[in-house]
Amino acid sequence: MKETSMEREGRVRKKWEEDGTFQRSIANREGRETYVFYEGPPTANGLPHAGHALGRTIKDFVARYKTMSGYQVLRKAGWDTHGLPVELEVEKLLNIRGKDQIEEYGVENFIQKCKESVFTYENEWKQFTKALGYWVDMDDPYVTLTNDYIESVWNILSTIHEKGYLYKGHRVVPYCPHCETSLSSHEVAQGYKDVSDLSVTAKFRLMDKTNEYFLGWTTTPWTLPGNVALAVNPKMNYVRVKQGTEIYILAESLVTTVLQEDYEILEVVAGKDLIGLSYEPPFDYVAVKNGHKVLGADFVTDSSGTGIVHLNPAHGEDDYKVIHDNNFDYVNVVDSKGRYKEMVSLLAGKFVKDCDVDIIKMLSQKNRLFAKQKYEHSYPHCWRCDSPLLYYAMEGWFIKTTAVKEAMQANNQEVEWFPSHMKDGRFGNFLNNMVDWNIGRNRYWGTPLNVWVCKTCGKEKAPSSIKELRKLSAAEVPADLELHKPYVDKVQLACSCGRRMERTSEVIDVWFDSGSMPFAQYHYPFEKKDMFNKQFPADVVIEGVDQTRGWFYSLLAVSTLYTGQSPYKRVLSLGHILDEDGQKMSKSKGNALNPTELIQEFGADALRWALLADSSPWNNKRFSKKTVSQAKSKVIDTLLNVYTFYTMYAEIDQFDPSRDVGGVQTTLDRWIVSRLNTVVKEVVQSLDAYDITRGARSITVFIDELSNWYVRRSRQRFWSSGMTDDKRSAFSTLYEVLTKLSQLMAPYTPFVSEDIYTNLVNDSVHVSDYPKPEESLIDIQLENDMNAVLEIIELTRSARNITGIKTKQPLANLAVIPTDAILSNLHHYSPIIKEEVNVKGLEFRKDFRDLLQLHLKLNFAVAGPKLGKSLGEVKNILEKLDDQLKARFVEGGELQLTLQSGEPVNLTKEDILLEKTAKDGYALGEGTNFIILLETTVTKELKEEGLVREFIRAVQSYRKELNLPVDLRVVLYIQTDSWLQEVLVKFAPLVERNLIIKAVHFEHKPMMRSFQVEEYEVKLYIQS
Ligand SMILES: [Zn+2]
Ligand SMILES: [Zn+2]
Repeated sequence: MKETSMEREGRVRKKWEEDGTFQRSIANREGRETYVFYEGPPTANGLPHAGHALGRTIKDFVARYKTMSGYQVLRKAGWDTHGLPVELEVEKLLNIRGKDQIEEYGVENFIQKCKESVFTYENEWKQFTKALGYWVDMDDPYVTLTNDYIESVWNILSTIHEKGYLYKGHRVVPYCPHCETSLSSHEVAQGYKDVSDLSVTAKFRLMDKTNEYFLGWTTTPWTLPGNVALAVNPKMNYVRVKQGTEIYILAESLVTTVLQEDYEILEVVAGKDLIGLSYEPPFDYVAVKNGHKVLGADFVTDSSGTGIVHLNPAHGEDDYKVIHDNNFDYVNVVDSKGRYKEMVSLLAGKFVKDCDVDIIKMLSQKNRLFAKQKYEHSYPHCWRCDSPLLYYAMEGWFIKTTAVKEAMQANNQEVEWFPSHMKDGRFGNFLNNMVDWNIGRNRYWGTPLNVWVCKTCGKEKAPSSIKELRKLSAAEVPADLELHKPYVDKVQLACSCGRRMERTSEVIDVWFDSGSMPFAQYHYPFEKKDMFNKQFPADVVIEGVDQTRGWFYSLLAVSTLYTGQSPYKRVLSLGHILDEDGQKMSKSKGNALNPTELIQEFGADALRWALLADSSPWNNKRFSKKTVSQAKSKVIDTLLNVYTFYTMYAEIDQFDPSRDVGGVQTTLDRWIVSRLNTVVKEVVQSLDAYDITRGARSITVFIDELSNWYVRRSRQRFWSSGMTDDKRSAFSTLYEVLTKLSQLMAPYTPFVSEDIYTNLVNDSVHVSDYPKPEESLIDIQLENDMNAVLEIIELTRSARNITGIKTKQPLANLAVIPTDAILSNLHHYSPIIKEEVNVKGLEFRKDFRDLLQLHLKLNFAVAGPKLGKSLGEVKNILEKLDDQLKARFVEGGELQLTLQSGEPVNLTKEDILLEKTAKDGYALGEGTNFIILLETTVTKELKEEGLVREFIRAVQSYRKELNLPVDLRVVLYIQTDSWLQEVLVKFAPLVERNLIIKAVHFEHKPMMRSFQVEEYEVKLYIQS
């Protein structure tokens, strides 16, 4: 039984584990230059998907390539273990929802459950990582929940606090009502969805007027019960307009849009003159001391709405600021779960975003609705629980990233991005628009924010280590204090005012954890400073493009705040994996590919090759099972077939690469060696520029050339008995090629490469040095010639296909006409071409006129306008043109005609389309460098030879079926009709040349097997 991919890869993996090959590949480079790689930590409470397969394949690729290129590449694994995702999983598990129920369940128990849940799928992740062949040190990973890790994060936060960049503020932030916590702007950026919402124009009655209204506009009707003010732009003009019995005030430029028709403008008023006017809000749920007046704001425009904007301070950043600046009252009618508070009596307890329609109905009942409109927009949703977010004014902790914005931008400029447009595009833009980092989360499972606050005097303290915490503590701190809630919350610090300081209750944004990994993975600055110095900054970080707002951002922000430096020199940003129709893969759509299943069916090598070779990893990638299956059949299996062919004969002949060196090289040997070195050169150039896909394409072409040309053409050289000079050369050439090719492919397909290389060289390919091209072995002329030969063969094959004459059927003659004189020097390849395309004769010619018919046709698009009325006449002339004139046109590119009127007409190449057809008895093939004409007449003699070749093929396939050793000479018994027997006797030398036989007998044997050779029945018996 042939070994499956899974079995082969399992065998290789076992050997790696036994031999400690991964560790050896690192130890092997001790003292060499370091190439620093950071692992972006996955969370192990979800299963790996196709995107992870791409990320991990490229990480492994780069690390293996750099290792083989001479660098030492440490690969410390990491696990991201904190944060909302974990809490939400545990909520589901315990069947509880929301913070009240967590408190009820008990924070300590909840935290313990979170800790257990973190590694739910750790085993699956480890299996997947190993199966994919991703070498990463999972025995000594960094884990963000450990005290050591947290202590490093504390040290960073303490430094930031010391610099005055960690502060508490009251401001409007994006807020998830389900998770009951605010989010950072980069988290928000990850969850936009297109939704349909309602906008409303409501009527705000002017104080002391019965029928006069401001038309106030809002895209969030649910915020109307908390209305505190209306805003106008002081620089815009407004109008009082009468429509029906009512008077409206709105922006002059929007009158037609809003009122459409039947209105009368009473007065134009400057925006600034409206400021200070009082109105009665549509709802009376809140009473204000200062408010319900018009104020001026520059952000009001006339690009939509009415030019008058409804303001609610609790849910909009602009609203909050302008209301605060005008000393108007702050009100909030929404609770922490996103529901209306008691005061909004009719809707109390309902989720506000579900109440837009209720609000509109209520407005309408009160005669306060002017208009409503549906609109589509992109609205942020929680990146973890999918709830629509609310903007919400609240207290929170912020890091003043805006203070280091320029430093971050400058650091970014030093980074090499793949693809390059990310630097000033997606990532650069994100940096340009950055806001302060909302770092606190009102949750439970995370790194506790290490800020202690004194309620009495307001002093803050941010301990930078466990040691400092102990020193500042008002009481003894347990020796085994775990740096999590609720344990750290029990620690109180002594304040200089004499009172106690308590820890602020928040945990921090989980993205700050992963952004701290360059430092925290080595417990910096408490331990391993040398290690840290060697491993900072990273030469490369690699993740999906969505990490521009996630890990790529948090790494840069943390490091810039902490050290001023960029944490990485290079970023590889990977596109998404889409299904074959270009749709995003998702479990709910059912179009997600499971990478583990793909590995089981096709092998990790095939999956990796498909991911790396099919299209550039920087762009979104259409991907399907078919891509993987093709990678297996076209690349992995083809390589294995060549390798199996080699080992089979090497065994028969006891070929020993160290003893059987040299031999007499054929042109074909020199050619494949030249190609090998050209490909090595191309691949190294590509990979040094991180162009993994181009490298793969060079290899794909080479594997095809090796298998379908070099090996196929060399087969017979291996059949001869004994070790001849020619055979020795064939063996050493193939040995050299397979050795280097397995090295070239090792970062792409680590398993099959390892298997082949180890068997050839008796050591691991992954501790070897990546091949370097040997320029002296590259013969460009030879490569070009062989390319030309292959083109001629290809053209001839397609000409045969068109006429339906099988390659097995010999034909008399092939004429080859190069379109370029340089290529006419291919005479010494004639034997190869003749044999490949199965023709008796081959001639290179300059002239093809006697074999072709030329048709000159007018190119109407060009000639039409030029000829005008004479068009028809010229067309007729061309149809009847004699061959001599046609030939003259072909040579000179010009044609002079005379019309009946005596007027001369001059036609050039642009005016004429030249069509060629072969004369009877010939088939035509036209390529870029050649025209070929294949004689298609099958004479009796040729027909007979064709039959004999069909017969040979039948015997060969029968031998294969019987599984006979390839070099075994057999006795062949044949029974067929007398005519075919005669033919076989006549062509005996051809039969003997192609079949490994001792003797042929035309006689009957029992148990003969019947074959069809064209229209004849042939019975065969093989005696071994
Ligand atoms: Zn949420
Ligand atoms: Zn104090």
